[in-house]
Amino acid sequence: MTTRKAAKKAPKAKTKAKAKAKKPVRMKRMPKEWVEPFFAALSAADPEPKTELNYTNPYTLVVAVALSAQATDKGVNLATEKLFKLADTPEKMVALGEDRVRDMIKTIGLFRNKAKNAVALSQKLIDEFGSEVPQSREALESLPGVGRKTANVVLNVAFGEPTIAVDTHIFRVSNRTGLAPGKDPLAVELALEKVVPEKYKLHAHHWLILHGRYVCKARKPDCAKCDVYKYCLWPEKAPLTPEDI
Ligand code: SF4
Repeated sequence: MTTRKAAKKAPKAKTKAKAKAKKPVRMKRMPKEWVEPFFAALSAADPEPKTELNYTNPYTLVVAVALSAQATDKGVNLATEKLFKLADTPEKMVALGEDRVRDMIKTIGLFRNKAKNAVALSQKLIDEFGSEVPQSREALESLPGVGRKTANVVLNVAFGEPTIAVDTHIFRVSNRTGLAPGKDPLAVELALEKVVPEKYKLHAHHWLILHGRYVCKARKPDCAKCDVYKYCLWPEKAPLTPEDI
């Protein structure tokens, strides 16, 4: 009897332990009154931040951003240097054709699919948008290879809209600092929309991306050089030495 009871109880204990292990870690949120000085510090360090992707017009911006998924801006710039000399309009890209586009961007990850999309999105721009890049999220997201992140970058950079595209850098910085914690990019984007003061919204995307790329790096954040050190809630941030202060 006792043995049977014990055997019945054992799996229950295991399930409890499992449930405990799966409990998500609660991320701390930065106090509201810190958000303004947080952005003021980033703004003071770099008043006019810019994208590091090379482009010559809204069309080449769409293509460059679509090519940049899972690739570095540097790698994309190397590939687009020649491509955009030959094809800086949808018509020229379609005339160049998928095979040649593929050959020109083969140094970038997922190049086969990206070449296909670059030609297909160009054809769609010709057929449905008079060869112009549309200024609405819905229309942008209808283009092959253009998702929410690419649409947000294009709306922000080409049309000056205060959108924030959440990439891996922005996701990390927003969670680490407690500025806008979220379990996925969309949750972080929505949290940023709520928390970023209006006057900083236009440049917030670039400030956060550049901060994540060069200072708050994934493996070894350079906390000693961080402009927002005092507002960061990350428990693992490096302690400052007297020389750093
Ligand atoms: S203090 Fe360190 S972890 Fe925090 S934002 Fe700055 S670089 Fe990132």
